[in-house]
Amino acid sequence: MSTTNEQTLLPLAGKKGLITGVANDKSIAFAVAKAVRALGGEIALTYQNEKTAKYTQPLAEALGAKLFLKLDVAEPGSLESVIEQCGQEFGEIDFAIHSMAFCNGDDLHGRVIDTSEAGFDSAMNISCHSFLRMAKALEPLMAHGGSLITMSYLGAERVVRNYGVMGIIKAALESAVRYMAYDLGPKGIRVFAVSPGPIMTRAASGIANFNSLLESDAQKAPLGRTVTIDEVGALTAFLCTAGSSGMTGQTIYVDAGAHIVA
Ligand code: NAD
Repeated sequence: MSTTNEQTLLPLAGKKGLITGVANDKSIAFAVAKAVRALGGEIALTYQNEKTAKYTQPLAEALGAKLFLKLDVAEPGSLESVIEQCGQEFGEIDFAIHSMAFCNGDDLHGRVIDTSEAGFDSAMNISCHSFLRMAKALEPLMAHGGSLITMSYLGAERVVRNYGVMGIIKAALESAVRYMAYDLGPKGIRVFAVSPGPIMTRAASGIANFNSLLESDAQKAPLGRTVTIDEVGALTAFLCTAGSSGMTGQTIYVDAGAHIVA
């Protein structure tokens, strides 16, 4: 355990942020929360519904989260209410992690041209537009700048078998990151997409043949393996620190190098 003096030297000491998307201890957002806490940051954590609260409440307690709030971005006003409560607790926010995605199975499996309009709207709203709304609600709380980070995937840029319509939505998300970085740059708010290689999580288990994607990625990656949620967490936490102060607008891969190989 570090002393108070050592803690004040940590890169995120005195920094406060919102971390969304923890469903269980396999979630990428959980690893981000661990990494942020290890660097001295204070956090508010969210859970989607009572079903996931059962798994996430003990994690929030173990992490020493200052707030543990329900957030369903598909429910009107839910995101804005969470951010208002963060403002009341923290005053200012220095970083926020958007680690949420959803697509109905019927729309995810199969050809993209068969996606229903309602399914497309819902996937786009939950997985992409919620990041824009998050930034808008946080802007008044980020008067001294900060970092906004979302999670993308290689399927945004290339056709990945079985990733279907989520590839289109992640492409929109990565584009949103660039436009948001441009709009918010003058305020010192930096915006990133982190693009992890495949990792077995609850969301990933909805993608058909995910195990073979894990195997083929490990084979082609220069590092000869896939990545862990802790590696994604460490990179994401770094993007919240002053060490990344000269960067914004990028999609940053953390995939053992797999994306550079055809
Ligand atoms: P996960 O299942 O642990 O996390 C997904 C989260 O999205 C869950 O916490 C879920 O509650 C949340 N969510 C879904 N709909 C929501 C809603 N309406 N309101 C609030 N929250 C909602 O899986 P994960 O792999 O950690 O996914 C996190 C992010 O990482 C996603 O954006 C995913 O696309 C991205 N990602 C995952 C991988 C991978 O291989 N696992 C690779 C690249 C990118």
